[in-house]
Amino acid sequence: MVDQTATGAAKPPLVELIDALPDVEVLTDPESTEPYRRDRANDRNVAVPLAVVLAERTEHVQAVMRWATANGIPVVPRGAGSGLSGGASAVQGGIVLSTERMRGLSIDETTRTAVVQPGLMNAEVKAAAAEVGLWYPPDPASAEFCSIGGNVATNAGGLCCVKYGVTTDYVLGIEVVLADGRAVRIGGPRLKDVAGLSMLKLFVGSEGTLGIITEITLRLLPAPMAPRTVVGWFDSSAAAGAAVAEIARRIRPSMLEYMDGVSIGAVEDELAMGLRRDAAALVVARSDDRSPTGEEVAIMLDAFERHGATECFETADVEDGERYAHARRIAIPAVERLGSLLLEDVGVAIPELPRLISGVERIAAENDVTIAFIAHAGDGNTHPLVVVDLEDRDMVRRAERSYGQIMDLAIDLGGTITGEHGVGRLKRPWLVDQIGDDLLDVSHRVKRALDPAGILNPGTIFAA
Ligand SMILES: Cc1cc2nc3c(=O)[nH]c(=O)nc-3n(C[C@H](O)[C@H](O)[C@H](O)COP(=O)(O)OP(=O)(O)OC[C@H]3O[C@@H](n4cnc5c(N)ncnc54)[C@H](O)[C@@H]3O)c2cc1C
Repeated sequence: MVDQTATGAAKPPLVELIDALPDVEVLTDPESTEPYRRDRANDRNVAVPLAVVLAERTEHVQAVMRWATANGIPVVPRGAGSGLSGGASAVQGGIVLSTERMRGLSIDETTRTAVVQPGLMNAEVKAAAAEVGLWYPPDPASAEFCSIGGNVATNAGGLCCVKYGVTTDYVLGIEVVLADGRAVRIGGPRLKDVAGLSMLKLFVGSEGTLGIITEITLRLLPAPMAPRTVVGWFDSSAAAGAAVAEIARRIRPSMLEYMDGVSIGAVEDELAMGLRRDAAALVVARSDDRSPTGEEVAIMLDAFERHGATECFETADVEDGERYAHARRIAIPAVERLGSLLLEDVGVAIPELPRLISGVERIAAENDVTIAFIAHAGDGNTHPLVVVDLEDRDMVRRAERSYGQIMDLAIDLGGTITGEHGVGRLKRPWLVDQIGDDLLDVSHRVKRALDPAGILNPGTIFAA
């Protein structure tokens, strides 16, 4: 690129940014920026970013934000791009700020904390903690390919969260770069700290709209006991939903997952592990209860039987149990083989779960579309997966109608349009129906206070 200062002309802004980041890789050609244009949602946004910055340190992120503020250029923070709500989709003419090269990690065994940079994968953080006998619990099914920064930015959940809580329950502190380029530290390795407003919770789950997270202090736990896994097969979704509700009422299992017939079939196509294709639903439950009597396992089996499971059993060993957990984890990519997906993330209070399941079945029938249904059932967080052939315009219309109707249904049941994936760009139109005008107005005021020019991830949560 030509430096125009020699001729007296103003430098084009991107040259200024590249000059400010001498040691940082900045991608600008279409081929190398292509993989950074979308996340894993079926967002048909085809925006082309001005550049992708592969930041390595907080100072690099600060330099990007100072330049972006000075020039009014939008910035989309990006972890590993595994998001399912279009939150990391590029913005036309904006910068994608990737944290993939920010990979520092240290663990303090005395305070049981880890200080990590955002670009590490969730599974890498877990593995590092396990090496010193500790445990980082939140376990999104995407653990191997989602970043810890993305987890904090979306407040990710997962399979063990029914007992152990979600990402925010493990975030003790963050360093965050604000829109104007200042870096602030909130919290730290202190288990109790009530100084000032509770800003930490504001940034966790803010989906890159309030600041860019450049360091995280995580709380770790002692390693858990090996879990015992209980499997229940059902010939009706209503019976499975009722069994889930009963288990959730009586105990706190360490996993309580649900798969419907469509997802069972899709996973069996992938794994050929002997899943029952004739079943309407599969519930995979776990207990890491330390009592020698194994009372929780007995309660789970009892609940399955009382609600008419066609078959239920405790799996023989940890590895066998892990096969069923793995089957649930790969359900989204397995169903993806049936077609493109409009991915839901709706949640309800547990007693409403059977009504949500039957409502989604009705929506599928009325719109003549296939909707696979998987769920972190124990915390009422479900993923109806609307399968669509993007070449079939009529089917696209019916699928999009179903997608909206499912969120309307969740709101009618007092639930949420998103339990863990975030609002992103795809669910934004429904946000006001859930939280109402007044709370949306308060949210806009917070956004304007922290990002007055609206350059941080415009279009996600808030209209661009
Ligand atoms: C097969 C599959 C299974 C999944 N299972 C689960 C699951 O069980 N539970 C769950 O919660 N999610 C799940 N997800 C969704 C996804 O993996 C999570 O939302 C994850 O937290 C996203 O992390 P990421 O690094 O890929 O973030 P990205 O997709 O890159 O970004 C997600 C959002 O966070 C913002 N962001 C990223 N990094 C930063 C940062 N450092 N600072 C500020 N903002 C940032 C982005 O702008 C965007 O809005 C699944 C996804 C797939 C494909």
